[in-house]
Amino acid sequence: MEFIELSRGCFYFKSAVNIGYIVNDDNSKGMLIDAGLETSAAKKVIKQLQKEKLPLTHLFITHAHADHFGGAQYIQQKEDVYTIAPAIEEAIMRNPLLEPIYLSQGNFPLKEMRNKFLEAPAIRVDEICSQGCLELFSDVQVIHLPGHSYNQHGILFHGILYAADAFLGIDVLAKHKIPFIVDASENMATLKKLKKLDVEGMVPGHGSYVTEYQNVISDNIHIHETITSTVLEEIIQSSRSGISLENLVAVMLTKYEVKPPNLGAYSLFRTAISAHIIQLLENGSAAYKITNGRPIIFSASYKA
Ligand SMILES: [Zn+2]
Repeated sequence: MEFIELSRGCFYFKSAVNIGYIVNDDNSKGMLIDAGLETSAAKKVIKQLQKEKLPLTHLFITHAHADHFGGAQYIQQKEDVYTIAPAIEEAIMRNPLLEPIYLSQGNFPLKEMRNKFLEAPAIRVDEICSQGCLELFSDVQVIHLPGHSYNQHGILFHGILYAADAFLGIDVLAKHKIPFIVDASENMATLKKLKKLDVEGMVPGHGSYVTEYQNVISDNIHIHETITSTVLEEIIQSSRSGISLENLVAVMLTKYEVKPPNLGAYSLFRTAISAHIIQLLENGSAAYKITNGRPIIFSASYKA
């Protein structure tokens, strides 16, 4: 895990899941942005900050995905940190069973779904935040970035945006194939908002720090637009009698050559694909009908 300085008071720990770190000018307050997947990542972070004589007083969690707050409980046990998280996300961090529950479409999850990738240890949240400034930590702006998660927020400090999973780094974008989102229109609005931001650079949750962020964000936009148009034009509009939700997910996974090894991985892709379907239902491009006990999705133009 490499510790990289980006700008005055701005750093990040580069890893499969990046962890941001910001410190104020008089070295009295230091805030981590996310906590990594597990204790081992958190241990390395604490050790590095101690070595560099950097303070750790605050912990900001951008969204309630286990890979971003799995190390947070350990940090709270070892350090006296004031923890800040966005509304809704905070409810899941305090009750992390909710993540495998929503991925199980509301059911109590199968035991195998309760793993470290889908359910992190519970944490305490001291302050619930929304877009704006953090009173306790001056010059820090909290930026609303929903779509990948219900109420994800990033941090802007000294010209650097810690963007969480609002976009994927170019090096990981192709690997994800169908990136995880819960709301396709919010996700697109967030990407367009990011593209317009004038900052020095951005740190994605996964991938490298980037200064030419417009290009990377355009690539992210292109991938999501292609997924939406594939679902609508190549699948829904090409089947006159409509297609069941389950078959639509199956056709997409086959088309994109995604082979989820278990229900946990499958549920992440199903949620992402469903986000695109919901957008099409909401904007009137598609409609549904329950036929023979199944929701069947069909093109709005065949409605009559
Ligand atoms: Zn995430």
